[in-house]
Amino acid sequence: MTRLIRRRVPDHLSCRQVAKVLQTHLDGELDDETASAVAEHLEMCRRCGLEAATYIELKEALARRAAPVPTASLERLRSFVAELDAHGAE
Ligand SMILES: [Zn+2]
Repeated sequence: MTRLIRRRVPDHLSCRQVAKVLQTHLDGELDDETASAVAEHLEMCRRCGLEAATYIELKEALARRAAPVPTASLERLRSFVAELDAHGAE
């Protein structure tokens, strides 16, 4: 792909143009003009809207997984349970 995204965007983006900037858009890093053109497209285009929803879900899932359960906590929990097994029940 050698075509670059131009600073000035047409009123109506193609699905391919939207796909190229979708992640940037969802990260909130597009300029206002492009962002609103993308938002408009996502509202009108079911396919791209679905794609955007998938990205958002993925991002949220990753964020959720990164935050509350770090590996260290899992390890601690595991050894805690192992200790209970060893010393708990007769
Ligand atoms: Zn589309």
